[in-house]
Amino acid sequence: MSQQVNISLPAPTITSVSQPFWDGIKEGRLMLQQCDQCSEWIFYPRAHCPHCFHCSLTWKEAAGAGILKTWSIIHRAGHPAWQEHTPYVVGVVQLTEGPSLLTHLNVNEDELNYQMEVEMDIQNTGPHPLPFFKPIKEETI
Ligand SMILES: [Zn+2]
Repeated sequence: MSQQVNISLPAPTITSVSQPFWDGIKEGRLMLQQCDQCSEWIFYPRAHCPHCFHCSLTWKEAAGAGILKTWSIIHRAGHPAWQEHTPYVVGVVQLTEGPSLLTHLNVNEDELNYQMEVEMDIQNTGPHPLPFFKPIKEETI
């Protein structure tokens, strides 16, 4: 007989470099760094540009939208606290600004489609709001 264990969802590890990203999520905004030298957008947050190594980066609000490049349906969670949420979908979203991010997807499995348009959908799951993505529904008249 297994014992009921109360395990909470892990919080993101927030550093001085990534603090503005997580502050933005709390405010409902997707913040990305843009390089002041080569203008490339950057994700994940870091101290210098991975394209030209310049260290002057500016935080700017991104569109919070992109396309789905790939996904996986998770049946065995990587952390025990996520197990009760299985099955869930994670995927790689290429943001409108260029960078890709790995994210949870708030989507029915039968809706999943390569290059489907998605938008940020912040979820208050666990100890910290997290940037999930969901399909952009086409407006019907
Ligand atoms: Zn650069």
